[in-house]
Amino acid sequence: MKRCPRCGSKNVAEILYGMPVYDDELQKKLDEGKIVLGGCCICTADINGKQVKVMPSMHCNDCKKDFGKPPILISRKSGETEDYRDIVTSIYFCVGGFFQGGDVVSISRNRDGAVVTAGWLPGDIKKFEKRQIATSEWKQIIDVLYKRLYLQDWKRRYVDPYTLDGTQWELKIRLTGGRRRNYYGSNIFPPYWNELKKVFQKYTIESMLTDIEKD
Ligand SMILES: [Zn+2]
Repeated sequence: MKRCPRCGSKNVAEILYGMPVYDDELQKKLDEGKIVLGGCCICTADINGKQVKVMPSMHCNDCKKDFGKPPILISRKSGETEDYRDIVTSIYFCVGGFFQGGDVVSISRNRDGAVVTAGWLPGDIKKFEKRQIATSEWKQIIDVLYKRLYLQDWKRRYVDPYTLDGTQWELKIRLTGGRRRNYYGSNIFPPYWNELKKVFQKYTIESMLTDIEKD
């Protein structure tokens, strides 16, 4: 079920672009808020020599924001366009409490795909495991983050100011050129939290060690 990545609302509509042909069915979907009209302007960007549509595909009826853009970064200053699959260099995910420690997974692009480092911090026993993954797997992680979890439309901070302890999480994305995208939460989780955890589940220290035992 699609949800708004900002507010979590399920009251979301598909955006229909171009000149619509009005019929009873379309009118019904418009009335129900299942479809909104996006207008006739089809914006495209040049990505590696191909023209790619860059408009959002969904609209949230509650917070009124659009989401579901393709995984393309458009520079506000220069208008330059880049595909996230080409520019993400590393992903770092950490979840845990201040006192009980937590899982850390870091995935960095290299020539053969990416290298995964999993650990447990800050406990007494600092164990780290490393594993190489193929380029296809690395690209799939980025695809899931940007296409299914709508990472581009996330807020940067999800914080409950009234709870001091509890669970903190952090997702840091590094892009080429030293650019960073940091997401952080304290006792508040983004709408796609379960899906996010699933992305990193198989790379945690626990599952990596289980895999090694199996080999
Ligand atoms: Zn919303």
